[in-house]
Amino acid sequence: MGGGTVSEALDQARGFVMAPVRGIRATGDPASPIPLSRRAVIRAMAAGGAALVAGCAGRAPGSESAAAPLTPPLDPAATAQPDLVDLARFDPRLRFDIRYARKDNFMGRVLYPLARAVAQRPVAEALSRVQTRAEAEGFGLLVFDAYRPWRITRAMWEQTPPGKREFVADPRTGSRHNRGASVDLTLHRGGVEVPMPSPYDDFTPAAYRSNTAAPPQALRLSRLLESWMVAEGFVPLANEWWHYDWAEWRRYPIMDVPLEDVTAG
Ligand SMILES: [Zn+2]
Repeated sequence: MGGGTVSEALDQARGFVMAPVRGIRATGDPASPIPLSRRAVIRAMAAGGAALVAGCAGRAPGSESAAAPLTPPLDPAATAQPDLVDLARFDPRLRFDIRYARKDNFMGRVLYPLARAVAQRPVAEALSRVQTRAEAEGFGLLVFDAYRPWRITRAMWEQTPPGKREFVADPRTGSRHNRGASVDLTLHRGGVEVPMPSPYDDFTPAAYRSNTAAPPQALRLSRLLESWMVAEGFVPLANEWWHYDWAEWRRYPIMDVPLEDVTAG
């Protein structure tokens, strides 16, 4: 693992740069390095020790030996102004199960200081339309994760054994979650999570969309959700039935604003 000692990681963490984005309450000059709060660093460091790690999009094969960068990558193609919204406020019909705000996630540690899901406004609008489609069939959406600060992606990478890094997003390219353009979700019926081909963040072939060995009902529900998401402008990820990218994800920059500092509308 290329993470070095905890003190080295702390020094690296202090070099993080907050990306200048609209709708974000900056704690300083958005173009200057800002100190990562000790609390946030401890949370990030506490995420270590995962035996099996996986991630959502942005993988870079053959990069196991490279050190993680200190600052988020700048994507010249990302020209849109970020406009993050709080999904719970945007559409109160949506339900949430923010696993990274608890310990029962694949890292086995709390990664988010609060259970919150935010996303770019067009993503939220599309999700709302999917919710309407789901309700018409007696279902609702249950969101696991949306915007993920880049420092969390980096912590996942740092604390993942090199042999497992094919499953995590490379911080040098970032995750589409870092852009506020991806959503991890499932369906519920009357508040009860429906069966799907695998548990959330189960990084085995059982989670692949090509998996046909799952119970027929689970496959049917996964494909039902997929049909609604695709109809509203999302692109499914092939090896994670729960992950969807907004079709225009590339327009949004990779961001590193902590969830607790996002002043989403
Ligand atoms: Zn995802």
